[in-house]
Amino acid sequence: MTSPRDPRELIRRHDQQAQAAEDDAVAAVVGPVERAFTALWRWLLARWARLFGKPATQAAGQPLRDLLDDLTARIVGIGLGPVDALLVHAQRARLMGADQGAREAGIPPLGDPGEVDQATRDAIERGVQWAQQKLATGADELARLDTADLDEVLRHATVARQAKAILERTARTAWNSELNAGIRAAAKASGARLVWVAERDACVDCLAQSGQVIDWDGQFNPARTFGKKARVFHGVLHGPPRHPNCRCRVSPWLGHDAAGALSVTHDWAEAIREAEAKGDTVAADAARRAAAAAADSASFDLPAALRREAERSILNGYALPSESERVRVQAADRLLARIGAGKNSRSPSGWQVPASVKKRAERALKAGTFATRSVPTGRK
Ligand SMILES: [Zn+2]
Repeated sequence: MTSPRDPRELIRRHDQQAQAAEDDAVAAVVGPVERAFTALWRWLLARWARLFGKPATQAAGQPLRDLLDDLTARIVGIGLGPVDALLVHAQRARLMGADQGAREAGIPPLGDPGEVDQATRDAIERGVQWAQQKLATGADELARLDTADLDEVLRHATVARQAKAILERTARTAWNSELNAGIRAAAKASGARLVWVAERDACVDCLAQSGQVIDWDGQFNPARTFGKKARVFHGVLHGPPRHPNCRCRVSPWLGHDAAGALSVTHDWAEAIREAEAKGDTVAADAARRAAAAAADSASFDLPAALRREAERSILNGYALPSESERVRVQAADRLLARIGAGKNSRSPSGWQVPASVKKRAERALKAGTFATRSVPTGRK
């Protein structure tokens, strides 16, 4: 269900812009490292072929020593992009978050969203150090080889190559932390609270946070999950990113008119579909009129809409390929059990789950698999 006043449209547009900017930032910092490794691999394969011929040749002695000296010097010489570059991008993310947060809260742009958080600075330094350590470890291992075939050389060089993945994860986490810190600054400036907004195919832990509201300087409950047990990383959860590659964000939340919002958040679209399916034109018309009135209401209960959306994602099995299907089937099973079998039974968020949604979920449980896990496009 979508009405023009549904703030999720603006939030999701901002999310797309932020993700595109994040990809650009990552490409700027990690791209050169990735290209350096690609060139290094090409050099290594060509050099090996010239010196030793076949990959399976057991190389040893001075020819191997010369090759490894050269290789380790090239590995150590790969610049990881200075900490400063990551900080510049983090600052940019914070500005973007403050800008987007101000727009979402309906206030003018902030003059100054503040400096990059100390926690982000620390995380950047730790990440770069760890990546440098990988380079050094790979080089050390290579320097100790007395005899090796190409596979073994590549295996140790791959340890060094992990530096690239670490650097990328560090850049993305820093970007997301500061984007959300900027949004938090906008919430503070506008006197708003913060609501967690998960993507529709987020993990069972993040979906359980979606629609939860805290004060701008508060904490989310890290134990919340649709799964068996939430993964808790630091004990405190000020907001996204909840885990590496988390795509969640927060948004300023100014509250709403409860009576008006109740009518907006009722699932009218589903009610209309069900009435039409039964051929009940009177009920369908009534639902349509109510939907129009609700859309005209100035208020929209965003937290309730997000919690309902998250429950729908669990029941429909919307997930990324990286999440195990077993986890999702069990989460749907658990949620169905909490909703219960009654005709008017409600979900934990207070949503009167349409029979069609329940039936689809039950079918998936029986089959042990969801027919499709991707979020249908064109439907909010
Ligand atoms: Zn997340």
